[in-house]
Amino acid sequence: MKKQLMTITLGALLVSGLTVPASTPVEAATSYKVQVTTNVLNVRTGPSTSYQKVGSAKLGQTFTYLGATGSWTKISYNGSTRYVSSTYVKKYSSTSLQTVTANKFLIPTKGTLTQGYGPASGKYGYTFHNGIDLAAAKGTTVQAAATGQVIVARNYGAYGNHVMISHTINGQAYTSVYAHMDRLNVVKGQTVAKGAKIGTVGNTGNSFGNHLHFEIHKNKYVYSSSTAANSVNPYTLF
Ligand SMILES: [Zn+2]
Repeated sequence: MKKQLMTITLGALLVSGLTVPASTPVEAATSYKVQVTTNVLNVRTGPSTSYQKVGSAKLGQTFTYLGATGSWTKISYNGSTRYVSSTYVKKYSSTSLQTVTANKFLIPTKGTLTQGYGPASGKYGYTFHNGIDLAAAKGTTVQAAATGQVIVARNYGAYGNHVMISHTINGQAYTSVYAHMDRLNVVKGQTVAKGAKIGTVGNTGNSFGNHLHFEIHKNKYVYSSSTAANSVNPYTLF
């Protein structure tokens, strides 16, 4: 008898709209903006590279978010509806200024984004920048972007003092890379929690000024100087 009563009550609540399913999208109530996270971003009339390019947006520029079509984001550009690749923008709530993502990774240091993820000029020896550069004062704390195991912690090559951490998040393996550090606070094999201090910002290796070069790869680390390989734009995972 009691069970039947509860069923009726729940049914009534659902009908009257008092309960909200947990999966209800937040999109409806809030307005969003997107910020460009690559150096130069093509703006097109439609959601594919076959559409005409009508302009280009620069690192850090923000636009009103109008929606998404597949892997393309619809924005308001000079008063018109235009499209940019979702790979190169981060979406955030225009009221809370919080990014709208799964928060799988945290931004590993407090710094200024000086070079975004994506095609690059080639003047530093690569035509695709497979990470992001966050400029900060020497000695600024660098944190593990997610919980994982340190698989590399050494001074070597273009990355200078660097750390690589392997992670598994919701069944997906990732490798994160933290380069050009001043000091390293972890050793190979160590398990680190999300937010743990792993080192400090520096200017070691192929670096011109104190900054953290940060990459995220799907599965194991694969490097290419001319394509994304298996790297992803960290801003799509923050
Ligand atoms: Zn870099």
